[in-house]
Amino acid sequence: MERRAVIVGIDLGTSYSCVSIWRNDGVEIITNDRGNRTTPSYVAFTDSEILVGETAKNQASMNPHNTVFGVHRLIGRNFNDQDVQSDIKHWPFKVIDKNKKPYIRVEYKGKVKDFTPEEILSMILTKMKEIAGAFLDTQVKNAVITVPVYYNNFQHQAIKDAGLIAGLNVLRIISGPTAAAIAYGLNKKVIGEQNVLVFDFGGGTCDVSLLRIKERIFEVKAVSGNAHLGGEDFDNRLVNCFVQEFKRKFGKDISSNARAIHRLRTTCERTKCTLSASTQASIELESLFEGIDFYTSLTRTRFEILNQDLFRSTMEPIEKVLRDSKIDKSQVHEIVLVGGSTRIPKIQRMISEFFNGKTPNKSINPDEAAAYGVAVQAAILFGVTSEKIQDLLLLDVAGVSLGIETVGGVMMPFIKRNTTVPAKKSEIISTDFDNQHRLLIQVYEGERTRTRDNKLLGKFELTGIPPSPKGVPQIEITFDIESDGILNVSAVDKTTRRSNKITITNRGLSEKEIERMVAEAEEYRTDRENVAQKTQARNGLENYTYNLRNALQYIDTMKNKLEDSIQESIIWLENNQDAKKDEYERKQKLLEEIINQLIVKLYSVDSL
Ligand code: ADP
Ligand code: MG
Repeated sequence: MERRAVIVGIDLGTSYSCVSIWRNDGVEIITNDRGNRTTPSYVAFTDSEILVGETAKNQASMNPHNTVFGVHRLIGRNFNDQDVQSDIKHWPFKVIDKNKKPYIRVEYKGKVKDFTPEEILSMILTKMKEIAGAFLDTQVKNAVITVPVYYNNFQHQAIKDAGLIAGLNVLRIISGPTAAAIAYGLNKKVIGEQNVLVFDFGGGTCDVSLLRIKERIFEVKAVSGNAHLGGEDFDNRLVNCFVQEFKRKFGKDISSNARAIHRLRTTCERTKCTLSASTQASIELESLFEGIDFYTSLTRTRFEILNQDLFRSTMEPIEKVLRDSKIDKSQVHEIVLVGGSTRIPKIQRMISEFFNGKTPNKSINPDEAAAYGVAVQAAILFGVTSEKIQDLLLLDVAGVSLGIETVGGVMMPFIKRNTTVPAKKSEIISTDFDNQHRLLIQVYEGERTRTRDNKLLGKFELTGIPPSPKGVPQIEITFDIESDGILNVSAVDKTTRRSNKITITNRGLSEKEIERMVAEAEEYRTDRENVAQKTQARNGLENYTYNLRNALQYIDTMKNKLEDSIQESIIWLENNQDAKKDEYERKQKLLEEIINQLIVKLYSVDSL
């Protein structure tokens, strides 16, 4: 019987990624080669290979310019985007402008090389794929992946592209909080109908979604999020604060020293996490800059004051989902906290206060909730028959409104924000002037009334419209959005049946580019294998040499022992020319034993 290709779930996080699978009637989170359940979303370039995960993160302070992280924030954005610009300022690696797109510039194998954010993500996906492959002892080809809620069509496409480059077929994309809600719903049998608010606060983003769970139906009512608010922002605040303190104390500016800043940032993140458990933390950085030691401390209160405005902004998406879904906060049955940054006591306190003292549910592991839910989604797509997931239905929503431009640059929405997907909607439009024979259809996304304030996704033309007065031709425009967020727009002239359509896959990458990247990804894999083989060979020789040295020392000792025994045997023989048979044999055994020990030792060198 043919073994069907497995489908894994991947929670592709800004800070950490996690891979999971449905097995033995439950979700299994797969541990990586280091024995960890989550893997840092870090990629590093060295003069011989590309490192991903712990090995990349651990060498970051030695190789700050070539250690890349946080690229989620670059996906599907323009180089000039304000957010991109502000991130670049904080990052030790270089981001450059290529045709208005951000590229990551690093030095790899002694050469300057530029990578798209998609390629960097593909390297993380490759790692996750390999972790799963090693665990399941099979080639993993299919995956369901989570993304932040605010991700638009372009960004979904970019994730699919990253998958393609990694040799992964991305069957479906779901948002992080929705995945977490599934985890919650599955863990706790929901009786009747419940409104569940999922607050996912990770390293780079703050995502909120409000779901109505009715037995096995998970209906997303509204989503909202802040694409630029996460744990890293707290780290940045602390870094800035300590850079100032260093300046005050020693009159020196460390901000342009990437290694010092990286060390400081790592310590700041640790300090932040410490402050979730204790009220005070100390910072000790020996020889941080020009040989100067930096010792200081931070209290939880001061941390809270420093980040007050950021904390406050986390409440905005909560208010927004309540408004959009027209559900009052008193009607929220359960608040589920997901993501590492929800461990911050202040956040928990603020949420609890906002919901009039209701305690958030912490029954699910905030680091693994999304990975858990995405594995369930993968199992459903795989067709797993299990009572636990039977009849489970997930109704996700479109995070942004989609529409076309009409007269005067006005946005005409077809699919409104928070519409359940998949969705299909048609409207009849007409010409703007007499005898107009072609119609330009421009597809936009965004919430503003003027299209110039929204984002153009793509455009196409419908031609051959027969001459007639304006407003007479009937052109049917249909928006069809698939469950993974990919949009198709078509236009049909009702009289001539002429039609045209566009699939918004206005990806940053062309087929050709993807092909090239796939081929390059193969090369990187070969690089990695070569390095691994080289390391293995080196370790082999090293082991052999040291074993041999040990053996030689042993031989030396044994040689002395042997010499003594031989001498002793000669003397004994001279004195015992007429002993018993047993006695001769026993003497011989003693000598043989020494030789045997030597032989065993020499064999052991070879077998190692
Ligand atoms: P993502 O989904 O964006 O990858 P995670 O959910 O894994 O992010 O959360 C990572 C973030 O959570 C990091 O910024 C990390 O510093 C932060 N974090 C982890 N543990 C704690 C803690 N105990 N206190 C405060 N922040 C934490
Ligand atoms: Mg996450």
